[in-house]
Amino acid sequence: MAHRIPLLIVGGGIGGLAAALAVSRAGYTAHVIERTEAFAELGAGLQLAPNATRVLDRLGLLDEIKHHAVFPKRLVMGDALSGALITTVDLGQTFLDHFGYPYLVMHRGDLLGAQLNACRNSPRIVLESNKEAIRIEDLGDGVRAEFLDGSSYECDALIGADGLHSLVRRTIADDGDPICAQFVAYRGTVPMDEVPKDADLDSMTIWVGPDLHFVQYCIRPGELFNQVAVFRSDKYTPNSDDWGTPEELDEHFAKTCPRVRHGIAKLRRGRRWPMYDRLPISNWTRNRITLLGDAAHPMLQYIAQGACQALEDANCLGDKMAEHAGDVTEVFRGYQEARIPRTSRVQEAARFFGDVKHIHGVGVPLRNALLARRASDDFDYFDWLYGYTGCPDEEESAAPSEEATARRTGIR
Ligand SMILES: Cc1cc2nc3c(=O)[nH]c(=O)nc-3n(C[C@H](O)[C@H](O)[C@H](O)COP(=O)(O)OP(=O)(O)OC[C@H]3O[C@@H](n4cnc5c(N)ncnc54)[C@H](O)[C@@H]3O)c2cc1C
Repeated sequence: MAHRIPLLIVGGGIGGLAAALAVSRAGYTAHVIERTEAFAELGAGLQLAPNATRVLDRLGLLDEIKHHAVFPKRLVMGDALSGALITTVDLGQTFLDHFGYPYLVMHRGDLLGAQLNACRNSPRIVLESNKEAIRIEDLGDGVRAEFLDGSSYECDALIGADGLHSLVRRTIADDGDPICAQFVAYRGTVPMDEVPKDADLDSMTIWVGPDLHFVQYCIRPGELFNQVAVFRSDKYTPNSDDWGTPEELDEHFAKTCPRVRHGIAKLRRGRRWPMYDRLPISNWTRNRITLLGDAAHPMLQYIAQGACQALEDANCLGDKMAEHAGDVTEVFRGYQEARIPRTSRVQEAARFFGDVKHIHGVGVPLRNALLARRASDDFDYFDWLYGYTGCPDEEESAAPSEEATARRTGIR
């Protein structure tokens, strides 16, 4: 006999927990199931742009997160081969005045920890780990979910926040497997006392080169330094793990400048992350089932927006639930209508920006010359991405006051 619950969220990652918090703020209960034994995040560093820190503020998490996060002074793009500076983006006061919320970087585990605490403190949220969904059935006026442990739930509505290889997505969309970009990432942290002497500790640095890039930034003040190396493997073979090896990593980065090589020498090689995305789709809802985060719109990580978009999704879903109390099919339809144009654009921008980072030949001096012309406080290109509030009137309104900005960020 299936147990009956109102709203089931499949997947307790950043997206699933944010959805639970947003829905509970709107006055609803949420039951989150997670297949792993403990709610935890793989990988280390996470960049959160103002479109995400705005949502974290609405969810009541920003104050706690500020204590764990690092606020880089600037984003620096450098040429990975020559070591030359290409461009910088000021992330200090001018940026805060412009967007109203900060750009921060932090340990993924610290974000998930803050989300978990908030969920555990909410009487409207139930968390259940070690529970893997293996079958989802659309019943029209409800949803049935079956689990690996033999149990099942019937629910009024279900949100699939189950990531890149989403099971829930298969009940809605018939678009096969995620698309492999033939790029692979290696990532990990370095204790502060082992960080190469020539690393820039105040900035978020992105080194770009033909078919590769390398990202470096501090994620816990005075404690941990995060590094991510990404490259295209010419040994890619579908359905195999034999490509993108640590030996290839060393071969690709052997030609880079000393500062990059010093960082690569400290990089962990224990696990590789092949890069995947999907093409945008025009529907991710079926009756009382919808998708959120990577399950809905997986994207390449080249503009660091996957988790940011999952947070935006959760915020939108919470707002729609508050607007249309009771009618869940209408809520889910309204939610996807609001979100699909936005997330499709971000998915496409991630691919485009990857091409810009990884460009070859004559494209390299052209890119570098064009980017060198922009001023560090010229945020024109970022407005559509970081200035997003989900509410066009708000986006056009005047920049927030200095006092409001200082209150939200703790930075004056
Ligand atoms: C190298 C790299 C760097 C990145 N850097 C950034 C960045 O700086 N900023 C940013 O915004 N984004 C970044 N991203 C993207 C970001 O990590 C993802 O977009 C984000 O984690 C997606 O969150 P999610 O909750 O949708 O999915 P996930 O984090 O994948 O969570 C899904 C959860 O569902 C669970 N689950 C799956 N299937 C089931 C099932 N059948 N039953 C129960 N539970 C299930 C999983 O165990 C998991 O906990 C990066 C990605 C990579 C690969």
